[in-house]
Formats: sequence, structure tokens, C-alpha cells
Amino acid sequence: MDLNLSVKRIEENLEHLKQFTATHGNGCTRLPFSKETRDAAEYLKEVMRCAGLEVREDCVGNLFGVLPGKDRTKPCILCGSHYDSVYNGGNYDGIAGVVCAIELARLLVEEKVELEEDYVVAAFMDEEGCRFGTGYFGSKCMLGDITLDDIKHFTDRDGISVYEAMRTYGMVPENFTEAKWPEGRIGKFLEVHIEQGPVLDAKEIELGLVDCIVGIQRYMVTVNGRADHAGTTPMDMRMDAVDMATKVISNIADWAREAGNGTVATVGYVTSVPGGMNVVAQSMTFSVDIRSTNNDVINGIHEKMLAKLDEVTTKYNGSYSVDTKLIITPCYMDKEMLDGLEESCKARGYSYLRMPSGAGHDALEIGQVLPTVMIFVPSKDGRSHAPQEYTPYPCFGKACAAMLDLIKKLG
Ligand SMILES: [Zn+2]
Repeated sequence: MDLNLSVKRIEENLEHLKQFTATHGNGCTRLPFSKETRDAAEYLKEVMRCAGLEVREDCVGNLFGVLPGKDRTKPCILCGSHYDSVYNGGNYDGIAGVVCAIELARLLVEEKVELEEDYVVAAFMDEEGCRFGTGYFGSKCMLGDITLDDIKHFTDRDGISVYEAMRTYGMVPENFTEAKWPEGRIGKFLEVHIEQGPVLDAKEIELGLVDCIVGIQRYMVTVNGRADHAGTTPMDMRMDAVDMATKVISNIADWAREAGNGTVATVGYVTSVPGGMNVVAQSMTFSVDIRSTNNDVINGIHEKMLAKLDEVTTKYNGSYSVDTKLIITPCYMDKEMLDGLEESCKARGYSYLRMPSGAGHDALEIGQVLPTVMIFVPSKDGRSHAPQEYTPYPCFGKACAAMLDLIKKLG
């Protein structure tokens, strides 16, 4: 493999893709079912065709490029990522993994590697969920994890549903079930992605071998008290919602610190009602986001939070409610394939780190049901979901080299 040539081709593709944004000069905004996704899709299909792949777009906007194997009935090796973005995001999140998957196909063709099974490049529609609040839409459709209700129910800022957006995009939303792959057709999933965090860049490590994608639990908590005059109500005669809620909030980060092993817990949103300077708060609402590779740890922090809520609201005669927003269990990557990647890194002299992913990815969705591995490349200063997002191009070449070794072992 000519690493310089690979890096040059990856750079060329990614630089070309930069133009498919709705916010020129202010990062990548490539929302699902927009003109920009259409333009990017046409370009990606062309690049896949040039690589010698059989190209198709499914009925929900996922793109696939197939390099046929010797036995086409065997479960395929699927490799890729997503081609949508967040609002004013970067030029590498998702799309770099698609381009790397295409580069791997080019390498397999050039090196005349004859795989037993098909090698399939995947470019997923709408992983970010940024427009409709969906998330992993394309990969979920591929796995048959979406209902027509979902498609009709989720809407964007302008009240346009996925259903309507798909129609405007020239699709027949009712056909979404055809996007589901037959059981047993996919054997394994491989994804290259930028880290989107500071660890690899800070430690000057070339590749991250993701061993687990963290589980996430998200709650919206409301603590209820009573609105009173801030001047005339004595301290022992008030039901102050902010006082009660903050007694809980102030513990949450510490519980994560105590748990250690990369556990994180965040209260990112707080609001009080009525929110007056001279009014004792009637209620306070706050968000809680807990992530860990250990599901028991997440459950443990959740239980501590409930116990503390019980304690303070009993003490001050308040009440509370907890609205569960999201529960995802940790997803472990395939051990054998991880070992294969590690061997390859050692043989090629690449520095690497086994690490968890704190963010969700298509690999999270797919990894729940299929053997999956993921390689991270460093994000400069850890910046992502911002126009400043950057990864030096040679890193992508190295990720491809490690994946190529793995694919050869698998095939
Ligand atoms: Zn992504």
C-alpha cells in the first residue's frame, strides 16, 4: 500500500466535499434530505463508481458501494459512517469515515485482494439527528429499527416531518421498510471516525482503538416548591425549589468522579420558575446526562440521585418528578477484531490507545446486533461539531492501513 497516495486521495475527496454545505464560510451544515445531502450523495456515488463499486442508493438515502466477493451469499463486511452533519459542524465528522471506506475499496482493488465475502461501503443518512431529533436514522432503517410512526412523528424546527422531508426529496416514505437488510446479510461493521475529543491529540497518539461505546442515561428533573416573597418569608417557612434542587445538583459531578474509570455526569441545563430575583422559586428543572462503559455505574448514580431527591424534598416539604429522556446501554466492540487492529498497529509501528467512545455513532446502533469495531483518529485540540474541527490527513491514511490489514485477515 502506498500510504502517500492514499492520503492524497482521501484529502482530495474530503476537500471536494467541503463545498456541500448550506453555510459557506461557517462550517459544514449538511442536514438530512437537503440540497446539500443530494449534492454530496451524487458526488459520493460517482467516487464509488470510479473505485469500481456497484453503487446503489436505498429508499431512505443510505448509499452503498459493493465490491463483490467470491461467495456472494456470505455475510458481507460493511464499512462506513454518515454523510450528514450538525449545524455549522466540521468537515470530517462522519464523512471522513465514508471516504476512508471508499479508499479501502480502492486499495482492495489495486492490491487485487480477493475476499470471500462482499466488501460494502456504507454512507448513512442522518446519523446526527440534528434536524429532526431522530439520531442514527439511516443505520436504524438498515437494521429495521424504525416505524412509520417515527417517520411521521419527528419534525424539524419548521414543523416539517421526516415524512414530508422525504417526499420533498423525491422519496416514497412508505417504502422505508425496503431499506432493511435481510437477516444475516451483514457479517461485520467497521467504522473510522474522528475522536471528537482531546485525548489522542493531547497524548500525541496516532490511532484510538475503541473498545466500548459508553452507555448513556438522560433525565429531565423538576423539583417543586412554592413561590413566596423573598423578603418576608422566613427561612424555616419556605419551600425553595432552587435550594432543594441545587443540593442534589451539587453532588452529581462528584458521584461521577468517585465512580472514576471515565464516568462522566453533566447537568447542562437549569431553569427556575418564575425566575424572579426577589421571588422564592416555585420550581426548578435541570437536565442530567450520565455516561459510562459500566451500566451498573450509570444505574448507581441514577439511584443516588433519586435517593437525594427523596431526602431533600422530604426535608423541605417539596416534591419532584423525573422524566426519562434516553437510556442506552454500553456497547462493547468485537474483541477479536480489536486484537486484529492492535496487531496491525504494532506491526506498522503506529502508536495506539484502547479507549472508550463518549459519543454515540452508527457503530453504537449497529454494534448492538453485529460484531463491530471502530478506529478513532485525533481531533486537533479535541474540537468537533464546530468549523474548527480538523484532523491531519496522514492520520486517515494510517487508519485505512490498519483497517486494510484487518479486512485481509477477515476475508
Ligand atoms: Zn459522527
